[in-house]
Amino acid sequence: MPEIQRRRAVTVNIGGIRVGSDSPVVVQSMTNTDTADVESSVQQIAALARAGSEMVRVTVNNDEAAKAVPAIVEELAKKGWSTPIIGDFHYNGHLLLKKYPETAKALAKYRINPGNVSIGRKDDDNFRTMVEVAVEHQKPVRIGVNWGSLDQALLTKMMDENSKSANPLPARDVMMEAMVVSALDNAAAAERYGLRRDQIILSAKVSGVRDLIDVYTELAKRCDYALHLGLTEAGMGMKGIVASAAGLAPLLLSGIGDTIRVSLTPTPGGDRSEEVRCGQQILQSLGIRSFMPQVTSCPGCGRTTSTYFQELAERIQGYLVASMPEWKKQYPGVEELKLAVMGCIVNGPGESKHANIGISLPGTFEEPKAPVYVDGKLFTTLKGDQIVEEFQVILDEYVEKRYGRVLVEV
Ligand code: SF4
Repeated sequence: MPEIQRRRAVTVNIGGIRVGSDSPVVVQSMTNTDTADVESSVQQIAALARAGSEMVRVTVNNDEAAKAVPAIVEELAKKGWSTPIIGDFHYNGHLLLKKYPETAKALAKYRINPGNVSIGRKDDDNFRTMVEVAVEHQKPVRIGVNWGSLDQALLTKMMDENSKSANPLPARDVMMEAMVVSALDNAAAAERYGLRRDQIILSAKVSGVRDLIDVYTELAKRCDYALHLGLTEAGMGMKGIVASAAGLAPLLLSGIGDTIRVSLTPTPGGDRSEEVRCGQQILQSLGIRSFMPQVTSCPGCGRTTSTYFQELAERIQGYLVASMPEWKKQYPGVEELKLAVMGCIVNGPGESKHANIGISLPGTFEEPKAPVYVDGKLFTTLKGDQIVEEFQVILDEYVEKRYGRVLVEV
């Protein structure tokens, strides 16, 4: 696959994770527990980290939440998790970071929303206070502009100037420009207040796909800060997943984006880790990073009148998800594995030959047998009602043989 030329960005170190330039594009997520509830928050952060979130953000919205942060970090460490925890601040971050120095110390990064940090003020003292705390504790900061809370004074000023110009731009373009200007002006202010460039990450989040692409393309042209990508409110289910993929893909393929978050609305009681898997899948589909063995399966058609092959594809997928936490430790490189589960012999053998292991099930009117290909060659033909179990054994043996560490006796 042709290599993607990453945009040159200043690399930022976030609690040991490097973000920017040639460092891998980092997948991050955010909790939706009450941060003050240490136990639930620790549980969810551990689940997100287990799913592969390389950093996790928590809201720090009041005294109780701020007080809970050091305990959360400590509990996670006791459980063996060193995932950097990022504090999300709005409105009162300047007060909380000053009042709770242990929290300021425990967090790996602060997210500042310049649109609501100095609301109603003529100066930027609150923003400056937060930056000074970051300087004091040597923490990086994300200056996260969001169109839902864009600096209204800046937007009004730019809209007024635009309306007076000889060739006024559409309001949407002015809004996009205001997002970029807000991010860059605040980054410049943060540098004046003592932050180094390698302590600054920028984001300019919107909820429309085309807006996202335009605003980040412009931001990327005008600075070399590391960029955090994501739709601000991607939505629920398929809409959220598709919109996130559609928005992130063109940017990532152009080399723009150093860390991503997929902001899915979970279903009530749903699994928060879905957003992590979705982010990983976007990167893996684009050939940027590998996280999970990939299963290619055909959609099925009139040639497969039973749901048998769908069930097989689902069981294999489930088996991979369940096996990966162990496999990752035991079998380095296993995330590159490619499987094919096909419904019949029309494309089955062909697709199977492109995978490391492929199986093509019998379609209607075909002989009841399932040829299995390993590394492009016919390996065996399975028959009977134990096909799934036998296929799993072949898979396990392949993984062990190909990715197992060779133990050297001393
Ligand atoms: S591989 Fe066979 S079952 Fe699957 S879509 Fe193609 S023709 Fe249909």
